[in-house]
Amino acid sequence: MLDLNDPSLLTGSALIGGAFVPGDRVFTVTNPATGAELAEVADLGVEGIRAAIDAAHGAQKPWAARTGKDRAAILRRWHDLIMANQEDLALILTAEMGKPLAEARGEIAYGASYVEWFAEEAKRVYGDTIPGHMPDKRIIVLKQPVGVVGAITPWNFPNAMLARKIAPALAAGCTMVARPSELTPLSALALGVLADRAGIPAGVLNIVPGLDAAGMGAELCADPRVAKITFTGSTRVGKILMRQGADTIKKLSLELGGNAPFIVFDDADLDAAVEGAMAAKFRNAGQTCVCANRIYVQAGVHDAFVEKLAATVAALKVGDGMADGVTTGPLINAAALAKVEDHVANARAHGATVATGGTRHALGGTFFQPTVLSGMTPAMKIAREETFGPVAPIWRFETEDEVIDLANASEFGLAGYFYARDLSRVWRVAEALEVGMVGVNTGLISTELAPFGGVKQSGLGREGSHYGIEDYLEIKYVCMSV
Ligand code: ADP
Repeated sequence: MLDLNDPSLLTGSALIGGAFVPGDRVFTVTNPATGAELAEVADLGVEGIRAAIDAAHGAQKPWAARTGKDRAAILRRWHDLIMANQEDLALILTAEMGKPLAEARGEIAYGASYVEWFAEEAKRVYGDTIPGHMPDKRIIVLKQPVGVVGAITPWNFPNAMLARKIAPALAAGCTMVARPSELTPLSALALGVLADRAGIPAGVLNIVPGLDAAGMGAELCADPRVAKITFTGSTRVGKILMRQGADTIKKLSLELGGNAPFIVFDDADLDAAVEGAMAAKFRNAGQTCVCANRIYVQAGVHDAFVEKLAATVAALKVGDGMADGVTTGPLINAAALAKVEDHVANARAHGATVATGGTRHALGGTFFQPTVLSGMTPAMKIAREETFGPVAPIWRFETEDEVIDLANASEFGLAGYFYARDLSRVWRVAEALEVGMVGVNTGLISTELAPFGGVKQSGLGREGSHYGIEDYLEIKYVCMSV
C-alpha cells in the first residue's frame, strides 16, 4: 500500500454537493507499473452526473454573489493545502499513472500554480466603460460567470489538467461538475478532499468518477443547466462533445491532440537542442499533448544530432516511477503500448532506421524502450498521428521553406519548437508555424503565466495567464440612459 502521511487523501468516494459518496457500484484502479490494485472507486455514471449538476446549479448563484476577494481567499487556502500535501499527492499520482515521482511532484506544483494564479485573478475581473453613442447614453461592460461548467479530463496529467480548469472556473464564480479519467480518478478525488478542507462550499466543486465515459459526457452536454464544457483529451472525443453540445449551444474550451514539430536548424546550439528534445519528447514517457512528435533536423547537423540524441536517450532509466533515478515509467495501458509498437513497426516497414531502442522493454508489462528513429518519411503514421510514447522520429530537411511546409502539414496545431540563432529566422519561423504555442530554443513551454492552447484541430480557448479566465466569463453590455 502507499505510505502516505495523510491516508485520508486516498479515497474512492465521489464529491457531490459537499458529501463524499462511496457509490453502490465500484471499479478498481490499478498501478500501471506493477498491476497492483490501488483502490476501489465509486462508479457513479449518469445518475451521479445528474446529482452533481443539481448540486452545482444550486450552489452557483450564491458562489458568484461572493466577492472576488472572498473566492480568492478560499482558492488560496486550497493552493496552500495542495502544496502542504505535495508529497502524498505525488505518490498517489505516480501510483495510478506511472510517471516518475520527481515528475509527479513537479505536476502537483504545476497544478497548484494555476490555483494560485487564478486566486489572484479572481480579484481582477475588470469590465469596461465605453463612451456612449448618444449624449444621454452610457455603455458599461460587465463580466459575469458563465454558470455551471462540466469538465472532462485525461489520465496523463491527472492533477494538473483538472486543477487548471477548476481554478479559473471557481475564480470567475462558476461551479463545476468534473469527471476525471477512469484510469486516474484518485488524484482528482484527493484534490476534492483538500478543496473541502479549504472551505470550498458544498456543490461548488463536484467530482464524479465512473466507467461510462460516453454516457456521462453526453449527460453533461445535454443538460441545459450546464453552460459550458471544458475538455482535455483526444481530438476524436473533442469532436463528439462539440456535436453533442450543439443542441444546447454549449460554450467550449477544448485542449485536444497535438503532433508537435521540433525543428533543429544548422545554426542551432546542438547540445541545447538535444536537451530541449529530451524534455519535449521524453517527459512523461512521451505521453503529453505538447510532446515533440516530429523532429526535423537540417542536413548540416543531422547526423551529429541523431548521434547525440541517441546517446542521451540510451542513458534513460526505465522502471517503476517510485524507484530512485527512474526517468521513464510505463505506458498507461496495453492499448498505448500497442499503438507505440505499431508506429515503430510502420516506420521500420517504410525504411526508418532504429538508432536506439525500438522494442518493448525487458521489464515487460507496458514498459517500452526509449527509442530514436531516423530516415523518417511523410508516408509514415508518425508523420500524421500522435504517438504518445517514448519514440523520437527524425526527418532530414534542407531548407527553411521546406521544413515550414512539413511542420504545417498537420491537422493539429498545438505546440511547435525550433532551435536557431539567426534573429530574422527566429521571427520568421515563429510567425509561420501554425500552432498556438512556440518554444524557441526551449523544449519546456508550460507555465500558468502563459496562454496554453491550440489552433486548427488542437482545440478552442486558452488555459492560464490573464486570458485564461475569459473562457469562464460572459460579457454583458448595459446601456444606460442618464
Ligand atoms: P486519451 O487519448 O488522452 O485517453 P480521450 O479523449 O480518450 O483521450 O480521453 C480523455 C477523457 O475523455 C477521459 O476522461 C475519457 O474517459 C473521456 N472520454 C472518452 N470517451 C468519451 C466520450 N465519448 N464522451 C465523453 N468523455 C469521453
